Amino acid sequence: MNTQAPRGKQPDEIRRDFPIFSAHPDLVYLDSAATTQKPRRVLDAIRDYYEQRNANVHRAAHTLATEATVAFESARARVRDFIGAASVGEVIWTRGTTEAINLVAASLREMELTRRDIVITELEHHSNIVPWQQLAAKIGGKLKVARITSGGEIDLEDLAAKLGDKTLIVAFNHVSNALGTLNPVAEICALARTRGALVLVDGAQATGHIEIDVKELGCDFYAFSGHKMFGPTGIGVLYGREDVLETLPVWQTGGEMIERVSFDGTTFNRLPYRFEAGTPNIAGAIGLAAAVEYIQSLDRAAASEHEHRLLALARSGLQQIDGVRVMAPDAPRSGVLSFVDEDVHHQDLGTLLNEQSIALRTGHHCAMPLMERLGVAGVTRVSVAPYNSEEDIARLLDALAKARALLA
Ligand code: PLP
Repeated sequence: MNTQAPRGKQPDEIRRDFPIFSAHPDLVYLDSAATTQKPRRVLDAIRDYYEQRNANVHRAAHTLATEATVAFESARARVRDFIGAASVGEVIWTRGTTEAINLVAASLREMELTRRDIVITELEHHSNIVPWQQLAAKIGGKLKVARITSGGEIDLEDLAAKLGDKTLIVAFNHVSNALGTLNPVAEICALARTRGALVLVDGAQATGHIEIDVKELGCDFYAFSGHKMFGPTGIGVLYGREDVLETLPVWQTGGEMIERVSFDGTTFNRLPYRFEAGTPNIAGAIGLAAAVEYIQSLDRAAASEHEHRLLALARSGLQQIDGVRVMAPDAPRSGVLSFVDEDVHHQDLGTLLNEQSIALRTGHHCAMPLMERLGVAGVTRVSVAPYNSEEDIARLLDALAKARALLA
């Protein structure tokens, strides 16, 4: 086994930043693609807000409200810098990736459209399929699905062939949650732009692993979730290019998103508030900003190298087992490696691994059409974060051998 130490903070030190591993010292957590564990810094930031600054934002004149507003808006500015957005007006708080995608789909539904077709790919999570399916049905457009290659990558030729003068938007993920494939975002954005289409990138599996610069990527929208990058649940972000957001109709309505209301009509607030109706998830935004700070405190290149090394170890270990097939083994990847065990049902495998304190996810991973395309009922997914160690992978492989021996 490769014993080369990662640069930067060592996995053991990183692990100590996460209280859950003290509560469960034996845990091998390989399910970070579902949700990451939370570092103390994030837990402290949320507690500090509720204990020291709790008040509603933007409205009241009192000191606590000012402090809460400053913390909340500073969180937005931190996220702006983290993703390279041009302004805070481009950073809209949502409940997560799912809500961010729904926001765009719901808003487009209200527009006078000359283009109606939507292009997605076979690699998508349900949250980047169903909103577009619903939108296409509503506006009378076609939902076109770009194929993947036998290697598990988006087939760019097929994608290009599916684009046309009627394409309204192209929506695809940065990293596949089911296969781990890392997609060529900038290339696809450039392709879509030549056909005048909008582009939404589902970044749910990317922001915790890869440095993001939305301007360099060239997308119109970028959606992500706090809980998959060490932040709390219930908070996420829709990045939207300002000139595009300015053309979008509002979606949810009510307080906060208005400028002036009378019984005769309402005028709407400026960006980003016009897309944020109601009291926002203040603690969530503050927690997400603390997660961003935590990520920035790590040596990101070293963390990424470390994750790649762990996945390479898992891949070579799995490939030595007769009856185990690694999915998309040669695709560029980030954070995730999946496999199919031809001899053991994935649910049984999940249960037997859990009995040995290995936490991972088996099944369709909210990507039923992808499973169908791959001809499998489900896959077993190993997903890593910087707190995982080579020891975790060794324990996984050992537990897998024991589980298979039991069922053979
Ligand atoms: N997109 C991808 C690629 C995901 O992995 C997930 C969650 O697993 C989502 C979207 C949905 O994220 P959320 O449930 O946080 O809205």
